Amino acid sequence: MPPDTLFAKIARRELPAEIVYQDELVTAFRDIHPVAPIHVLIIPNKVIPTLNEATEEDTALLGKLLLTARKLAEQLGIAEGGYRLVLNCNPDGGQSVYHLHVHLLGGRKMTWPPG
Ligand code: 5GP
Repeated sequence: MPPDTLFAKIARRELPAEIVYQDELVTAFRDIHPVAPIHVLIIPNKVIPTLNEATEEDTALLGKLLLTARKLAEQLGIAEGGYRLVLNCNPDGGQSVYHLHVHLLGGRKMTWPPG
């Protein structure tokens, strides 16, 4: 069994967060320290610590994370202007919470390359 996580507790509503979408597979909520006017985290409800632990069985779930991001981008009004999706993996990738998540960032112009 993977360990319980902060984000799993948010998905189970045991910890407070501004949840903007939830279904049986995924949960999306506002980042507590937003780095853009729109900053939402999209997680699988089940714990996958990092992308390195994702398996072939998770193929549909990983696709669902992206399609949820796309729908939220539309709903939050950033689809046309544009947005960025980020998935950090392990320390060198900048990951700090070990429950796989996609950052949806928008509402300002992004720079490249990332830091
Ligand atoms: P990572 O660095 O792992 O890719 O991203 C983790 C993100 O989770 C960070 O942007 C951080 O601000 C956010 N975060 C950490 N703790 C909490 C929390 O308790 N609630 C919410 N809503 N976001 C959190």
